[in-house]
Amino acid sequence: FNTLPVSEIRSQFPLLQRTINNKPIVYLDNAATTQKPWAVINALRDFYVNTNANIHRGIHTLAEEATTAYEATRLAVQSFIGAAAPEEIIFTRGTTESINLVANTWGKQNIHEGDEILISAMEHHSNIVPWQILCAEKKAVLKVVPVNDAGELIMEEFEKLLSPKTKLVAITYVSNSLGTINPISDIITMAHNVGALVLVDGAQATVHLNIQVQQLNCDFYAFSGHKIYGPTGVGVLYGKKALLESMPVFMGGGEMIKEVSFEKTTYAVLPYKYEAGTPNIADTVALKAAIDFMQQTGIEKIQAHENALLAYATDKMLQIDDLRIYGTAQNKTGVISFLVKNIHPQDMGVLLDNQAIAVRTGHHCTQPLMHRFGIPGTVRASFAMYNTFEEVDALVKGIEKSIKMLL
Ligand code: PMP
Repeated sequence: FNTLPVSEIRSQFPLLQRTINNKPIVYLDNAATTQKPWAVINALRDFYVNTNANIHRGIHTLAEEATTAYEATRLAVQSFIGAAAPEEIIFTRGTTESINLVANTWGKQNIHEGDEILISAMEHHSNIVPWQILCAEKKAVLKVVPVNDAGELIMEEFEKLLSPKTKLVAITYVSNSLGTINPISDIITMAHNVGALVLVDGAQATVHLNIQVQQLNCDFYAFSGHKIYGPTGVGVLYGKKALLESMPVFMGGGEMIKEVSFEKTTYAVLPYKYEAGTPNIADTVALKAAIDFMQQTGIEKIQAHENALLAYATDKMLQIDDLRIYGTAQNKTGVISFLVKNIHPQDMGVLLDNQAIAVRTGHHCTQPLMHRFGIPGTVRASFAMYNTFEEVDALVKGIEKSIKMLL
């Protein structure tokens, strides 16, 4: 029941061909970072071999070609996430930097004493800490929407927490620890109804779901290139143009200015206003190859395949004695967090690694969520478009073998 030509896809990912301990690698840590197809690796190499130059300066051929390639990625991102204009796409280092940019610009300008910022109990630390820092500085209040035992947001509580004091709702679309897909459209509408803006953490969602920011009507959307089959070190902040234009600058330096004198500096227009200094040109250029790759494959097909893997794996794993899955939301992506009674997640992770099965263990940068469930962490298997049903079988066998060794 494959919906994707998975072996053809796998052949395009060189790392998936390697072995560990003489066993073929089973890579199930995709929520941490995805592997890269040849198209991305070649784009990176091609940039340094043929095009390397700094962008937006100099009129020589290489500088023009590099600038064109860099800006081509901006256009690709714009169309990929359905933004209204290319200048709404700001390149950053990743989701973390995108969120910090908003906290340090829009946040510093618009959050005042007594204002409230609403996040959820399932946020990644990168969508908690920047708001804590801002709230401490501004004497504002950070409020948290709780989750139920299935790992779903309790929407009645969300509604109760919303008030005219709420200035921002900063929330993840998809939980990296549990796989829960949040009802983001409802959240955005409800937040806008009380006059709050919404920042969506799209770090996990962008690789699994069709993202259309204008349709969602979110105010900010953040994601990382490395989680959508692209390079590390490049990410995106989307913001509505009028908002980005009204916000103060973030980092000062070259590229982000119009004119500089010792008395006064004026700033560049969007998006350059937020891209100070020499950016990560090569990785940004190669990000386009990742987006092209995903679009050629088709997000609906990818989603169907990952959902089939999730259903198959969930069914098989629930047959293992004393195994509990954390995150049983109706609406979830290809992430399975689990624990086996009396086995520490770390021990399970090490034994799976001995069998060349790569999973993540620990708190997944969501310590408050782990506290909510009263556990120190989980073992997490997360799927990508190149994973197979045979790999799920290998995982299940690997877990059973580890249990025999540990208990
Ligand atoms: N938010 C979520 C939901 C994530 O899963 C991650 C990465 N694990 C981040 C934010 C941070 O992304 P990055 O480390 O690429 O900045």
